[in-house]
Amino acid sequence: MSSLRVAVVGAGPAGVYAADILTKSDVDVQIDLFEKLPAPYGLVRYGVAPDHPRIKGIVTALQKVLDKPSVRFFGNVEYGVDIKLDDLRQFYDAVIFSTGASSDRQLDIPGIDLPGSYGAADFVSWYDGHPDAPRTWPLEAKSVAVLGVGNVALDVARILAKTADELLVTEIPQNVYEGLRSSPVTDVHVFGRRGPAQAKFTPLELRELDHSPNVEVIVHAEGIEFDEASMAAIRSNKQVEMIVKTLQEWAIRDEGTRPRRLHLHFLEAPVEVLGSSCVTGLRTETQELTGDGNVRGTGVFTDWDVQAVYRAVGYLSTHLTDIPFDHVSGTIPHLAGRVLDLDEVPMPGVYTTGWIKRGPIGLIGHTKGDALETITSLLEDAPSLPRCASPSRDAVVEFLEQRGVPFVTNEGWSRLDAHEIALGAAHGRERVKVVSREEMTSISNG
Ligand SMILES: Cc1cc2nc3c(=O)[nH]c(=O)nc-3n(C[C@H](O)[C@H](O)[C@H](O)COP(=O)(O)OP(=O)(O)OC[C@H]3O[C@@H](n4cnc5c(N)ncnc54)[C@H](O)[C@@H]3O)c2cc1C
Repeated sequence: MSSLRVAVVGAGPAGVYAADILTKSDVDVQIDLFEKLPAPYGLVRYGVAPDHPRIKGIVTALQKVLDKPSVRFFGNVEYGVDIKLDDLRQFYDAVIFSTGASSDRQLDIPGIDLPGSYGAADFVSWYDGHPDAPRTWPLEAKSVAVLGVGNVALDVARILAKTADELLVTEIPQNVYEGLRSSPVTDVHVFGRRGPAQAKFTPLELRELDHSPNVEVIVHAEGIEFDEASMAAIRSNKQVEMIVKTLQEWAIRDEGTRPRRLHLHFLEAPVEVLGSSCVTGLRTETQELTGDGNVRGTGVFTDWDVQAVYRAVGYLSTHLTDIPFDHVSGTIPHLAGRVLDLDEVPMPGVYTTGWIKRGPIGLIGHTKGDALETITSLLEDAPSLPRCASPSRDAVVEFLEQRGVPFVTNEGWSRLDAHEIALGAAHGRERVKVVSREEMTSISNG
């Protein structure tokens, strides 16, 4: 029996973990990972904040998977543009979609589209040096609002508030360092609609805010309220208890003298971004808890003097060509990782994993469990999967070459990786990222 041929579309952690689990099964398998960017690792490279080097270090484990002889990397190949489902079916017995999420969920309030109002995903892409993000970012505001109280909101607030020099030890590209260095920001206000016990961030991310010598974290005491549901959450969930304890301590401490301030406001719902031609403020409505952890408006409004607004209200996945998509949840419909067609019947040999399967929530580690479920389904199906017409390993290479797709191989990525590490080493840093797609591809191609 010839090897099982599997294509994985999207080389973020979910796709790489899926490949890893497959290689550890007792099935003889060949795996090709297709990635639209010239570099692998998805949001580990282009989402995780640069001042989280320990998390970024996960790439060392992921690289070991790419280095396995049965795994090949094809970067710079976009599914839906350079290759489609019918093409993949020709070369592979099974296809796994793990394309994650990369855009911002909308927030439907007046003024949200004004110049000066941004999505967190776009800003994250900029500061993490995503090749498709603009090279400059308008950092002209002295006071900024960040909407949302999840980990991404805290990342955005922290990067906005820290000084560029604090971040210079990280892998941030030169253009990002220069952009942040010119920022006149003094105050970053984070707004949460619900109470402290309903915050979505983790205790670690919260406490980290306080580590900067340049940023004073101020918790506004009027939002530190609890209802019955909040008390129950504090009693039953250690994480909630830790978050609330930290917030309560910070709410009553004396204000220090660090030059920039990061304010945390709870029970303030953004209702309008103010301004006619650009952002000049944010209007919020004070909320009260209703007993079950939900909130209702009190009719008390406050206008905040901010000149930029960042909404961090969730990421959104993109609908892939020829693959069903649930536009409400922003996910691919599936049963234990088997993609379901419009009649809710599994599409033979088509699977999904990661954020596009589960929705854009959860940490990198959670994508391992996802991948395990999907690969278990795939391996159960494997004996009865229809085999592809062109199983030769060279066939897909010829296909891409004939189409003129300037794909990046694993060796190419290794060259770029080594180049970035050398750029960093010259300045005592772990890595400095190359940003432009052309430069990335040209370094990869030697
Ligand atoms: C701002 C931010 C910060 C985060 N910080 C942390 C953290 O500190 N710690 C932590 O544990 N988790 C963190 N996470 C969560 C973590 O990043 C996710 O859990 C994880 O990346 C999801 O993995 P994934 O592989 O499903 O998706 P992604 O990481 O999004 O990977 C999907 C890949 O598919 C590729 N792709 C998309 N479309 C196509 C296409 N058409 N053709 C080919 N390739 C395609 C993308 O380029 C990408 O490389 C963070 C998330 C965000 C958004």
